[in-house]
Amino acid sequence: MVGHPASIEALATEFAKMPGIGSRTAMRLAYYVQSLTSEDAARLVDAIRTVKAKSRQCSICCNISETDPCPVCGDASRDRTTVCVVERVQDMTAIDSSGSYRGLYHVLGGRIAPLDGVYPENLNIDALVTRVKEGEIREIIIATNPDTEGDSTANLVADRLAPFGVTVSVLARGVPAGGQLEHAAKNTLAGAIEGRRTVKG
Ligand SMILES: [Zn+2]
Repeated sequence: MVGHPASIEALATEFAKMPGIGSRTAMRLAYYVQSLTSEDAARLVDAIRTVKAKSRQCSICCNISETDPCPVCGDASRDRTTVCVVERVQDMTAIDSSGSYRGLYHVLGGRIAPLDGVYPENLNIDALVTRVKEGEIREIIIATNPDTEGDSTANLVADRLAPFGVTVSVLARGVPAGGQLEHAAKNTLAGAIEGRRTVKG
């Protein structure tokens, strides 16, 4: 049987750890990298190094940024009494580009998914509780994705915030169940924010 060279296998193993990349795609990417010119391969390595060297998690909202605080937390024109809680940075970008929300954000860094080894303690929930305890925040809008894991994450966040006297709301069901906020149309997201439903407060 003809196997793959060990160095190709090793690179494919790294690609296979990436979200949405199965073992076949990982192998295709490894051979693609092998086919690159030395200059292009060096650029790829350099881009990875630069991301790790320059970007970090915002100490307030857990957004990924090259400054701390991030530009969103540092934007004085935003409503600092409202915080929209999202799973990932991409969701925040989608909601912000809908144009119907001008408050702050909090990035959980994922959603509860025990089968994938993601538990509540792996998410940035304590950092959110700390922000709420500081007292300036009046409303928390939970904008997790509309599926089972997103809903259980939303419930847990709402429970954790219950003792602190903030209004907690969730998005209206404009985004189809099982759909992804990241891919929702701008006006769908705008409607989901405007039609949000208070669950506590
Ligand atoms: Zn921030």
